[in-house]
Amino acid sequence: MSRIQAIRGMNDVLPEQTPRWQYFEDGARALLTAYAYQEIRFPVLEQTQLFKRSIGEATDIVEKEMYTFEDRNGDSLTLRPEGTACCVRAADQGGLLYNQTRKLWYLGPMYRHERPQKGRYRQFYQLGVEAFGMGDADIEAEMLLLCADLWQRLGISPYVKLELNNLGASEDRARYGAALREFLLPHKDALDPDSQRRLGSNVLRVLDSKDPGTREILRDAPRLDAFVGEASRAGFSNLLQFLDEAGIAYTLNPALVRGLDYYNGLVFEWTTDKLGAQSTVCAGGRYDGLSAQLGGTRTPAVGFAMGIERILLLLEEVQAFPAHLGQSVDVYLAVVGQGVQSQALRLGRELRQAFPGLRILTHCGGGKYNAQLKKAYACGARAALILEGDQPQTTVKLRLLSDDSASVELPLSSAEGWLARELGLKQHNHVE
Ligand code: ATP
Ligand code: MG
Repeated sequence: MSRIQAIRGMNDVLPEQTPRWQYFEDGARALLTAYAYQEIRFPVLEQTQLFKRSIGEATDIVEKEMYTFEDRNGDSLTLRPEGTACCVRAADQGGLLYNQTRKLWYLGPMYRHERPQKGRYRQFYQLGVEAFGMGDADIEAEMLLLCADLWQRLGISPYVKLELNNLGASEDRARYGAALREFLLPHKDALDPDSQRRLGSNVLRVLDSKDPGTREILRDAPRLDAFVGEASRAGFSNLLQFLDEAGIAYTLNPALVRGLDYYNGLVFEWTTDKLGAQSTVCAGGRYDGLSAQLGGTRTPAVGFAMGIERILLLLEEVQAFPAHLGQSVDVYLAVVGQGVQSQALRLGRELRQAFPGLRILTHCGGGKYNAQLKKAYACGARAALILEGDQPQTTVKLRLLSDDSASVELPLSSAEGWLARELGLKQHNHVE
């Protein structure tokens, strides 16, 4: 029988790789906590309408990329392709949008049926951050500072750059859309098929086209910035001033429109030139109309999402992972002979209580002294404890693995003190 394989574009993270994920997640979580953002969790499956109404019918995601199916009740469900719409839905349903401000984050898998390649998968992970109830430039600036702090913490600041654009108020966008359509209509036949379709449904998305012929026509098209109103302009210039004062470098990119329908005002991307075509590691913007568009409480909102795989690829590319990330064992408890197995399990538990955080691997499955010691060295443990005998013992052998020192044999009750001394550990007082 053929062996069953994972779905194409959906990756396992094997134990050799998980420390890298944990390194990112721990750093991000610590930073978000330091900014006093709260974690929110919501399902991976939602009603299809949630994404159609938020991301927009005429977008790549909704037209081509969603995993949509009917469940046994005949309801149309979709595996979430992104988190913002879900977060807004959950926050509104949970009563977090009415008359208050919220700073939230989430982390989890997203699903898009795209062509798998480096940095592009069908199940991929995003860290998303969303803030509700704040309509000014200060929260926008804070979000960008938070990103900058994360890049610094991860050691990748030199390799990512920030691009910004101002889409204006939704009325500005609508007026611009009309002008763009009027400009493009005479050229309709020369546009690529996707753009021809979008001329009717979502004309701004034509700006995103990668087709050379369409790009050529767009060169003379009206520019969005000419349509942006005074209020939006003022907010955006506030943001730029905050960034200047914080020393955050940025480039203004008038062509940046983003692939989702719900943005207004600020849109931004952090990109890198280290990952080829999959260059955007983080993207976001303001989306004040989304909640109401979903039938919920109207609230100003701003947020972003970063692709975790791409950030890990970047960390690897520029060798920014700390050394020794993979080591997971501090103390190896060797168990030689069946008579000491129960005792070893107990000793392991006592030591874990005495030294919270110390990683103690209790050997299971038997085997000879030498074979077990070899494993102790191989896993990078700093010390080995050896219990050996056909019946319970009163002593244990202890051995430092970092040098060639011989083992010592001590009463069982002295193991704690020995570890504390030799490994420089602080003991946690027993509560028994
Ligand atoms: P792209 O232009 O690369 O397709 P996008 O505009 O579709 O990106 P967003 O929807 O803004 O991406 O998602 C935010 C981030 O999530 C992206 O910047 C990227 O880092 C990551 N991302 C998006 N799609 C994928 C994918 N299929 N595989 C891995 N990461 C992804
Ligand atoms: Mg995409």
